[in-house]
Amino acid sequence: MTQETIPKLPEDFEQQMSSMMGDKNYLEFKNALLKPSKSSIRLNSAKSCQMDFEATPVPWNVEGYFLNKRPKFTLDPLFHAGAYYVQEASSMFIQHILESIHAPKSGLYLDLCAAPGGKSSLLSSYLGDEGMLLANEVIKARSSILRENMIKWGLGNTLVTNNDPDHFEPLEGLFDLVLVDAPCSGEGMFRKDPQAREEWSLENVQLCAARQQRILDRAGALAGEGGYLIYSTCTFNENENENMIRFLTQEFAYEPVRIPLEADWGIVETSTETEEGTFYGYRFFPHLVDGEGFFITVLKRPEDTYFQNPKRQKEFKHPFIKRANKQERAHIANEVGLDDNWAMYRLKDSYFALKTEWEKHFEHIASILKIRYFGTELGKFNKGQFIPTHDWAVSILPKKQFPSFEISLDEALSYLRKEDLTLDIPEGGWVLLTYKKLPIGWVKNIGNRINNYYPKEWRIRMRD
Ligand code: SAM
Repeated sequence: MTQETIPKLPEDFEQQMSSMMGDKNYLEFKNALLKPSKSSIRLNSAKSCQMDFEATPVPWNVEGYFLNKRPKFTLDPLFHAGAYYVQEASSMFIQHILESIHAPKSGLYLDLCAAPGGKSSLLSSYLGDEGMLLANEVIKARSSILRENMIKWGLGNTLVTNNDPDHFEPLEGLFDLVLVDAPCSGEGMFRKDPQAREEWSLENVQLCAARQQRILDRAGALAGEGGYLIYSTCTFNENENENMIRFLTQEFAYEPVRIPLEADWGIVETSTETEEGTFYGYRFFPHLVDGEGFFITVLKRPEDTYFQNPKRQKEFKHPFIKRANKQERAHIANEVGLDDNWAMYRLKDSYFALKTEWEKHFEHIASILKIRYFGTELGKFNKGQFIPTHDWAVSILPKKQFPSFEISLDEALSYLRKEDLTLDIPEGGWVLLTYKKLPIGWVKNIGNRINNYYPKEWRIRMRD
């Protein structure tokens, strides 16, 4: 899109913003929309590797970097290996929130509006090998993208579901932290996605606010005693932001949370007076921060809130997912080398692993929601042979029993295009290909050729 073809800012939007920030600030804001947005990535600390980007740090997230120029991510094998996530810098502020509130690492978190998975991948990294994340997306096609991104992120601590917020009612009080990154009118995206300007209207802001209220009406009860609700949008107007704080404090018991800021970050703190006290919000304006428009607020559930702690059921009854029996467990444990800290399940003929301490939560959630993915899919047996999945290859779970083979950039791109490869690897068994020491997938030398096991549906089509 050239400067001439960028849609003009809607008049009502201009009025709304200049009355919010004053004419002088509005002019600076408007000028900032003419500048290109900066590309930024967040590193996957569980998959550290050597990267060639020229970058400067994002001030509020140690894993975040602004890139000096935007590369073709599709042509970087490390992108497909889940070494980093391309994420807008303002959103990375969630890391600073988690650290400031000392959010428990061994908690159960929910990301209710999760696709494509930027914030879910951040939460998954924060939880590491202690906690569990439920990443939910209501739109089925988008939940597939979420699933793919969480598989590539590879921490194995995430359940992906495809449900409407209304379906969460039986899970009230279950979570230690709930993130609602709500669908919104997208004013903060007017620079990065100029098309968003054409979809904006005052009526649409009202529609978005009504939808956000419906989502929060359910989400507001999902965090249990002492738990947190984080609400965010990529829009500036008060209807979709501060009004939601007012709504939440009227409908549910919440306490305010204030997040410490460094003055040179340029983030604007706002306060909202309610009967329960002063609540805080954080606005990211593109003329003040190196990031896109964003709003975020944090609220805390009082200590006497109802907390749901599911019991481990003797039997797990699910139409598709079964607990692996003793014999299956022994068989699979032998193949994958996982110990008793992992619970094993079978879905159709494929086996999945999940940390044992989250078993009862998973089974409870699976009895209520539509599960699209959970833990790590390891593989299946075919005529007595174990066939490992790509998911396991790119996960951080150990795969010590397989030889690995380091390949070049050109070879890695051929692999990701699912082309035939010529590699000097032993005949017979599975070989884990690595690029810059990070696993990118399986191959097998079957004598006259090398089979490429990269998932067909994920293969890249882009040339240079
Ligand atoms: N959190 C995501 C990330 O960081 O990658 C972005 C989420 S996006 C702002 C909002 C998401 O809410 C979209 O994926 C959209 O499909 C979903 N959504 C739309 N309508 C919804 C509804 N009524 N209830 C819950 N989620 C909804």
